[in-house]
Amino acid sequence: MHVKSQDDLMGDVIKVFGEIEPSLPAVFNGLGKGPVTQQTMRFYTAFEDMITRSNSPISCKSGCTYCCHYHVMVSATETFAIAEAIEKLPQARRDVVIGRVHNVAARTREMTSEVYTTTNVECAMLLDGKCSIYAARPIACRGHHSTDVSACKETFDDVHSTTLGMKDYHREVVYRAFDNAQLAANLRANVDATKYELHAALSTALNKSSSFKRWKSGKSAFPEVADKVTLAEMGG
Ligand code: SF4
Repeated sequence: MHVKSQDDLMGDVIKVFGEIEPSLPAVFNGLGKGPVTQQTMRFYTAFEDMITRSNSPISCKSGCTYCCHYHVMVSATETFAIAEAIEKLPQARRDVVIGRVHNVAARTREMTSEVYTTTNVECAMLLDGKCSIYAARPIACRGHHSTDVSACKETFDDVHSTTLGMKDYHREVVYRAFDNAQLAANLRANVDATKYELHAALSTALNKSSSFKRWKSGKSAFPEVADKVTLAEMGG
């Protein structure tokens, strides 16, 4: 079997990005003008439609939560969509999730991304072994997958393990193309295209209505969040 190189991967990501790009204005129509759930869900539907075209088996299944202890980066748009999903949870559940979000954000505030990446931090949205906002989970979670659960377990048991996760090539290409596509759509809509650490951004979004106003006016949504990667740092 021909082993794909990094150049092959980047070439295929660019090709898939080119296929998605023309549909972005329709998918993200209205972005930056109000609530974000509708646009974000249309984007996730398009993503699921393309990623499930791969019929290669993967090891991921309900109840497996190794990757729900990772350092997850999200866009501001995704953060507000998750905040909207949390607000719609039944009250008791919502209160638990919000409390957990603030606790994790406080616990990890001083961590650099390097330290966070080598610490198993249970995601605040993981309740009873399941994602409590599954329909609104970010693209980093939707795109993450493994073809070898033993590698996931190994990196969970030893956070300094250098074992590389095994990926399905098609899924990885589609994930990266869509991840870039959402940043392109944010840029096109003149809203913040920075990637933020999930809990830090979400805790701020849930606490401060001003962050949504900042985002709508094209400013940095979460200037107080230190764990972030700007578009310039991503090479955009
Ligand atoms: S948002 Fe959901 S899927 Fe993603 S890490 Fe948290 S619990 Fe897991």
